[in-house]
Amino acid sequence: MIAVQPSDTAAQSVAVERCDVCIVGAGLAGLNALFVASRYLSRDQKVILVDRRGRVGGMWVDTYPYVRLHQPHGMFTAGNIKWTLGADPAYLATKGEVLGHFEHCLDVIKQRVRVDERFGWNLESDDETDGIVRVTCRSSDGKALVIEAKRLIKAYGFRIEPNDPLEVSSTRVQSVSPNYTDMRGDEMRASDTPVWVIGGGKTAMDTAHALITEYPGREVNLVAGDGTFFGCRDRFFPAGARRWWGGTLVSTLGVQAARRFDGTNESDVWDWHRAAYGTWVTPETGNFLLGVLSESENKTIAAGLNDVIMDHLVDAVDRNGTTDMVFGSGATKSIKAGSWIVNCTGYVKPADYAYEPYVSDSGAVVSIQTLSATMHLSSYMGYFMTHLLFLDKFKDVPLYELDMLDLRTKSKMVFPYALLTLAQHNISLIADGVPTKAFNECGLDFDRWYPLPRRLAATARFMRTHHREREHQRRTLDTVRERFDVRCGPLTHAVR
Ligand SMILES: Cc1cc2nc3c(=O)[nH]c(=O)nc-3n(C[C@H](O)[C@H](O)[C@H](O)COP(=O)(O)OP(=O)(O)OC[C@H]3O[C@@H](n4cnc5c(N)ncnc54)[C@H](O)[C@@H]3O)c2cc1C
Repeated sequence: MIAVQPSDTAAQSVAVERCDVCIVGAGLAGLNALFVASRYLSRDQKVILVDRRGRVGGMWVDTYPYVRLHQPHGMFTAGNIKWTLGADPAYLATKGEVLGHFEHCLDVIKQRVRVDERFGWNLESDDETDGIVRVTCRSSDGKALVIEAKRLIKAYGFRIEPNDPLEVSSTRVQSVSPNYTDMRGDEMRASDTPVWVIGGGKTAMDTAHALITEYPGREVNLVAGDGTFFGCRDRFFPAGARRWWGGTLVSTLGVQAARRFDGTNESDVWDWHRAAYGTWVTPETGNFLLGVLSESENKTIAAGLNDVIMDHLVDAVDRNGTTDMVFGSGATKSIKAGSWIVNCTGYVKPADYAYEPYVSDSGAVVSIQTLSATMHLSSYMGYFMTHLLFLDKFKDVPLYELDMLDLRTKSKMVFPYALLTLAQHNISLIADGVPTKAFNECGLDFDRWYPLPRRLAATARFMRTHHREREHQRRTLDTVRERFDVRCGPLTHAVR
């Protein structure tokens, strides 16, 4: 580390560190980027891994304690790093186990390349001059750090932060967030008043499931907004020998949805998708957010819920000795004093950050985030974009980028099918640009749930068809751009 005196802060010395690659974001996307970087770098080269959180793990560090993985644990990893749990392949890992696996991945990667961790540092800015990217970071106690890197990967992912409790006027209810109040903790256990879970997505399902199974007989209710449907886990990840003949490979859903969707027929695609692959608890389902639920979880939740309200909570107010929940429709519902209101309203928030392209015009800075998404999952972006970075392929591979947040605000129904089409389109381009080995080492691939012969058949189908399907996918994405006036297309600048 070198102490320098930059001209703008003459009184303060700023640490400057140098490395081959700087990765900002130590979540699943950042670790996949790190895994890939370690494939290209030699042992004497250095990566600096920066995160504003205090450790590796990203959003898993501070998400609710009873969260479980959606998918069987083996496919939630960095590159092809194996889990060391020794659990049944179908096992859905807990938060602690997921965080343990993140540590393990980092240890494994460190055997191939030097990684200096800078946890507790926030990236404030970055700029490129003369082939060097200068990254300015600040710690929570105000110290500055400058990192000079040949390449920078900003693996921000979906920028998920813990939710605060909902603000309500009532002083007679207990408004909490699952991120700060454990549904299985002492406070909740010591009380027997009704619980109102606010939200209809995966966090709401996990929360309702935790409450119903932990406290049999307790009154648990759901205020589900527009409702959500989920991919049926039993359908995509059948257990035991059924893997040989049953179920549907997740890649098949992507292929089928992208074939059906033409940029205008989202309602038909939605109905087909929900009927063919969905499972849901609520009477209406106005959302699909790539979440997964099993039929047995579904049954437990449906049987355990006392009341389901399809509306949006606006406030809880005390009036003349009673407490009412007030909804977006104008309806009200009286609730018992002491009721719990648990904020599970989700993590899709308006962006308070600026657009940046998924790759800078020099090709040295990659940005993995929601305003210029290139795939449906940030982990895949971290993995494949890092291959393109090191292979210097961005100029040959005209990926489409999509402002996911803007599109989701404009159409919840188009959102999943535009994302799946985007992923199909871009993976087709990437398949032409990166070696087969990159695909073989991608442990994130959900199709790995199935035995090799079924996966090989799916790969052969993809290889036969992906070039000719690209034109339809491009037209679909262009239609989405025109209809919704969203950023959706190739980069406007040329990558040098
Ligand atoms: C409740 C919940 C459950 C989920 N369950 C699953 C699941 O079971 N399976 C699944 O596949 N996906 C799941 N997801 C999706 C999940 O977001 C991904 O699995 C994945 O963990 C996201 O990884 P990421 O690296 O993209 O983002 P994150 O985990 O959010 O990591 C990004 C990191 O970047 C850091 N960062 C951002 N900006 C800066 C900055 N300026 N300076 C320094 N650091 C910065 C953040 O601190 C963060 O640690 C779930 C999401 C939620 C909200």
